[in-house]
Amino acid sequence: MRYFALGLAALAFASGASAQQTQQPSATSVAVNPQAPPAAAPISPEQERTVDRLRAAALESNLAWEIVEDLVTEIGPRLAGSEAEARARDWAVNMLREQRFSNVRIEPFTIPYWDATREEASIVGPAPQPMVIAALGGSPSTPQGGLEAEVVRFADMAALEAAPEDAVRGRIVFIDERMQRTQDGSGYGAAVAKRGRCAPVAQAKGAVACLIRSVGTDPHRFAHQGGSSRQSQGASLPAAAISPADADLLARRISRGATRVRLDIQADIRENAPSGNVIAEIRGRERPDEIVLLAAHLDSWDMGQGAVDDGAGVAIVTAAAKLIRDLPRRPRRTIRILLAGAEENGVHGGAAYAEAHANETHIVGAESDFGAGPIWRFRTRFADHALPYGRAIQRQLAPLGIIPGDNAAGGGADIGAMRQAGMPVVDLSQNGLDYFDYHHTPNDTLDKIDPEALRQNVAAYAVFAYLVADSDGVFTAEP
Ligand code: ZN
Ligand code: ZN
Repeated sequence: MRYFALGLAALAFASGASAQQTQQPSATSVAVNPQAPPAAAPISPEQERTVDRLRAAALESNLAWEIVEDLVTEIGPRLAGSEAEARARDWAVNMLREQRFSNVRIEPFTIPYWDATREEASIVGPAPQPMVIAALGGSPSTPQGGLEAEVVRFADMAALEAAPEDAVRGRIVFIDERMQRTQDGSGYGAAVAKRGRCAPVAQAKGAVACLIRSVGTDPHRFAHQGGSSRQSQGASLPAAAISPADADLLARRISRGATRVRLDIQADIRENAPSGNVIAEIRGRERPDEIVLLAAHLDSWDMGQGAVDDGAGVAIVTAAAKLIRDLPRRPRRTIRILLAGAEENGVHGGAAYAEAHANETHIVGAESDFGAGPIWRFRTRFADHALPYGRAIQRQLAPLGIIPGDNAAGGGADIGAMRQAGMPVVDLSQNGLDYFDYHHTPNDTLDKIDPEALRQNVAAYAVFAYLVADSDGVFTAEP
């Protein structure tokens, strides 16, 4: 009886129409007799048994933990374009082959390389104090020996934008905006704008450098790294994030009178550094050309270990796919793992993937890149006719404590280009209340991952990926 609740659209959708077929069965025959049993259920009893098995196996599996523990121990931080990122690709290839995935390969591309070799700032007299900072990705170097100037504080980007040029010219701009702690991470979108926009806006008004309060939710003396190059192309102003504790100090100092800061950033900037995506698959038994894409990114910033961002995601999608790989019968469609390179400094891996694979049929994509907190919500970005299928999947996730969300899933950075090209996406939304305490800091270390939450993530990804890969469902608008 459960299947009746799914409605007509689900019945049409579960009827065997492939992504290529335009023919959809008429809903009319069902409508005249709504009590008639559906021709096909979106989730068969056999699939439901498999889902039960996957869920149980995931909740007992330590594989994801073993993967992320190995990544951060054997490789550690993996700055985009670095030698460490190259070692991470080789590590991933070996690991994925060991787990007996198919078509394991590296798809290379090149990126503009950026690394800070020096990042120092201090308040200069009358009471000199060092501050903990992180140069923002893409920041140019200051002159040798650093630069020194008076600091002008703005409560947020809008205040800087409204400021007259003579309040800014020749000064170091300090954007003191705080980030809101939220379960769904929505505070990040609002807070991160200053990371990309401070430099170009301040530069246009004649500033000599940009400092921002770290984009994070902790009060600690760690600065949060992060890219600015993507948003601030064309800006050539040195820019850094200062730790929350030092942002507090700087604000107090400025409230007492004119405050000068010395900033010294030296950056290693090179063109055409090697990066690459690592791909692995479980080939579909009936429709190998139809792809369910599970993504995470392999690179990380380099102050921490890249454990929660995004070693956890690498581990979650790989361990989930491995559970499906170990089923007695492969799903009908192909499940493809994308471990993207060079996400942090410009989502280069996601762009390279979209360029290389634009002509393939992608049924749906999901990305794990929000740490390792438990998943609490399932969101889709499906065409209306496919929404009942989303609800059917959510019901299979409900035993894991996952509630239904809206149809406005974002999908994640590395599958963003594919989403824009029309690929349906879902979000398995993790609880991110503490994610931005550690994000892009030296405190992004393995101990921040809860093994039990990691297992719940694996269970959810396994259930979702299996159901969509073993179905005929089409989630795009009907052609
Ligand atoms: Zn990430
Ligand atoms: Zn990140």
